[in-house]
Amino acid sequence: MNQVLVLNSGSSSIKYQLLDMADRRRLAVGAVERIGESAGSVSDHAAGMDVVLGELEGHLDRSALAAVGHRVVHGGDRFRGPTRIDDEVCATIKELIPLAPLHNPANLTLIEAARKAFPDTPQVAVFDTAFHQTLPVPAYTYAVPAEWRDDLGVRRYGFHGTSHQYVSRRAAELLGRRPEEVNVIVLHLGNGASACAVRQGRSVDTSMGMTPLEGLVMGTRSGDLDPAVSAYIARRTSQDAEETDRVLNKASGMLALGGSNDMRDITRGADAGDEGATLALDVYCYRIRKYIGAYLAVLGRIDALVFTAGVGENSPVVRAGAVAGLEHLGIAISPKRNAAESKEERYISPYWAQTAVLVVPTDEEIEIADQALTLVGGG
Ligand code: AMP
Repeated sequence: MNQVLVLNSGSSSIKYQLLDMADRRRLAVGAVERIGESAGSVSDHAAGMDVVLGELEGHLDRSALAAVGHRVVHGGDRFRGPTRIDDEVCATIKELIPLAPLHNPANLTLIEAARKAFPDTPQVAVFDTAFHQTLPVPAYTYAVPAEWRDDLGVRRYGFHGTSHQYVSRRAAELLGRRPEEVNVIVLHLGNGASACAVRQGRSVDTSMGMTPLEGLVMGTRSGDLDPAVSAYIARRTSQDAEETDRVLNKASGMLALGGSNDMRDITRGADAGDEGATLALDVYCYRIRKYIGAYLAVLGRIDALVFTAGVGENSPVVRAGAVAGLEHLGIAISPKRNAAESKEERYISPYWAQTAVLVVPTDEEIEIADQALTLVGGG
């Protein structure tokens, strides 16, 4: 029993990986995309599950399948770790739909489909929010009325937890220490982006909030913003709250400032002297730098600053921009190490630096598979 199937559903996609955990090998990797978007495409997540099953034929050994691991976006304050899925857990994920109206329904449909497809295999939910359930009260509390906080669940939850957990643990290993011995700041810079302050293996602050909109500038999300902007835009234009929410999530960030949500286009544009792209890059890096400063204050002392995800792993320009001017805080990078292209975990700080600056490729699927297997008693 050493196979684990990891399922990760977005609002219109299903990504899957079948792993052999005996040697941590990928047996099959794939995605079903544009679900429900047009006639001719896969109609819903249940139909998508059938496509996945077809693609797994020849790789999947049902008698060796120890668990199905599901990435679930929002666990609210109800889930603090990986959870064996039963009817009650499904009902709770359903109750949390108002907090994640696009993602939790898709996650739920796929869970139901997978339970039908594998009725005898344990199913495990791994929540994007779970790692951040250790945030102290002052870090997760918004200064809003008690009814909003108590009755409506308005607070910071944080996301990318699986990635922050995996990357912070790998960083400790790279330093030759145990996670409980180190403080690290993780910068997960992908299409979505968030920073996380990790004290001795536990998340103590993170930049995403009640939803993934808060914090760093992202591909299409604004990140931090005066909350009064929404009401202002509603007064000045015909846009209602739903439309403003869509714009802040899908039509802001790097796309709005620099004309593309892909950092490769932005850096090429900035290189060629494009003003929008240059502005986008400056705002992006400045916001990261501000969070590094904030989390240094939160943690007091850090052992490592860690870059991960698509941008963090691949963009020397962003890494250099993010830490520019932080030498007096003990944070510096070696231009040569930073410029070297690699898919490996590595140091990019110079040998003399006080604080290690690392690049650690994230691997959410392996982390989900590990957590699922551990929970069901394998691994
Ligand atoms: P992720 O969400 O982690 O898959 O990251 C996706 C994002 O990574 C893309 O939208 C790009 O902006 C960025 N990215 C991928 N490869 C590179 C690269 N070589 N240089 C800069 N950015 C990259």
